[in-house]
Amino acid sequence: MMRGTILATLFLGPVLTIILSSCAVNPVTGEEEMMFFSPEKDVALGRKYAPAIEKELGGLVPDDNLQNYVNQIGQKIARVCHQPDLSYHFAVVEKGGANALAVPGGYVYVTRELLEELKSEAQLAAILGHEVGHVVARDTMAALSRQIGMTALVAAVGATDDSGRGVGGASFVAATLSLQYSREDEKDADMTGLSYMTQAGYDPNGIVETMRILQELQTYRPVEFFSTHPNPESRIAYLEDRIARRYAGLGALKVGTEEYAEKILTPLSQMKEKERIKTPTLEPWGTKEKPAF
Ligand SMILES: [Zn+2]
Repeated sequence: MMRGTILATLFLGPVLTIILSSCAVNPVTGEEEMMFFSPEKDVALGRKYAPAIEKELGGLVPDDNLQNYVNQIGQKIARVCHQPDLSYHFAVVEKGGANALAVPGGYVYVTRELLEELKSEAQLAAILGHEVGHVVARDTMAALSRQIGMTALVAAVGATDDSGRGVGGASFVAATLSLQYSREDEKDADMTGLSYMTQAGYDPNGIVETMRILQELQTYRPVEFFSTHPNPESRIAYLEDRIARRYAGLGALKVGTEEYAEKILTPLSQMKEKERIKTPTLEPWGTKEKPAF
């Protein structure tokens, strides 16, 4: 009996230690969850693959003022979130349709096309708040382990090639770009993001307006944000209900329509005009000699 207990302690001890050390409390839900990597690994993973992800998304939009403006709004959200000690990075990328994504460890990207659809700082704060909600809850790591499997995720964490080209790296980058969250995680990120944006001083109605804009866009074409962030039914209804019950008594909070037009919409439309002038128009057939290959 004694011998059995000692043997059990010898063999089960390390196993129990591993299991117990990988349990963590999700700061958003307050529930204990199985986490296979420490938060430090998330940061290392984000730092390692963010350049490859940025490259896949066409690189950063080349406008420092615009990037700083988006980053400042993001940092206001980061300061009030459940994990303010993490180093957050907010950036605007050229491609990827109308979308936003969170890379483990605090890297948040919004696409140029999504910015073109929005109309105010509060609407942008809603998107950034939602993505920070995913970062804090570590939804990305959970979704990645579902999508590419633990083996590939472990390979990505351990890969020495940080260009994103290695086996683990390539699947990590590809999966992050097409990641699908669960509807439950999505609803949590909506509610968390709503709380963050309001604490950061933004009008909570911005999130409802953002959802309406994206749903309206979806009547014309598939919206990338909804393909990576499944749209829970009655999203607008539950957000409006939460705003009415929890945030109705708040005084005037920031909407920021003029600032958004000045810092985002005007520079983006000027950029588009420059690109249009630069892009050579196609010559009609027959007016040019066939190139010799
Ligand atoms: Zn989401």
